[in-house]
Amino acid sequence: MGALSVAFLFLLGLLVGSFLNVCIYRIPRRESLAWPASHCTSCHRALSWYENVPVVSWTLLRGRCRTCRSAISMVYPIVELITAVLFAGGYAIYGWTPLLAVRLLFTCAMIVLFVIDLQHRILPNVITLPGIVLGLALSAAFPPGWLAAAIGAIAGGGALYLIAEAYYRVRGVEGLGMGDVKMLAMIGAFLGWQLTIVTLMLASFSGSIIGVGLMASGRRGMQAALPFGTFLAVGALVAAVCGDSLLSWYLSFYS
Ligand SMILES: [Zn+2]
Repeated sequence: MGALSVAFLFLLGLLVGSFLNVCIYRIPRRESLAWPASHCTSCHRALSWYENVPVVSWTLLRGRCRTCRSAISMVYPIVELITAVLFAGGYAIYGWTPLLAVRLLFTCAMIVLFVIDLQHRILPNVITLPGIVLGLALSAAFPPGWLAAAIGAIAGGGALYLIAEAYYRVRGVEGLGMGDVKMLAMIGAFLGWQLTIVTLMLASFSGSIIGVGLMASGRRGMQAALPFGTFLAVGALVAAVCGDSLLSWYLSFYS
């Protein structure tokens, strides 16, 4: 049963990951998700079913379109694989519970926001705003409960808004955008205020580590190019899984 469930969720993750790729490509370009069917983004030829099999097609085609030979980004199979691994891992953590479905939905949103922020430096409202509403609604029925979710959304968004404002006043450049504020509000709505604090700490910490690393390696210019939403996405996924243990470990120093 266990192995079968893991295999099933892995395959489901591959298929969902393939759909997430469509979202990642089309949402920033304001294209419809439903129409047209998958096509080569270079020569616009519609893909046959066997060119659309997650990971397998990309590997067999060696990352090139069959007709125009233009390169197909390696991001596609990577997104499919990561989604599949996270889906299978989700079963190991939550089992067949309603919370599994909630957390997988949240995971999908984080993957899409991660890649879009990395590629386009935006966190589209069409994901974050419905995400806040959906997170609050689902949290009313499932953990962390409506109160923790409401505080998480308001405090998470509010805190980041203040940080963004302060950064702008001090540095005179926009370090964080409103997209980051709405994304953290969405994370708060799904995970509750406690895990939102963990998310923000993990994102800031990993952001500084990588920022310092880039400066040390002489790529100072890259620092400004690191979008905070990508760190928030990773931070939120880590917090969702081991945030409670991290929090009690951290608080144990103060008791
Ligand atoms: Zn082509």
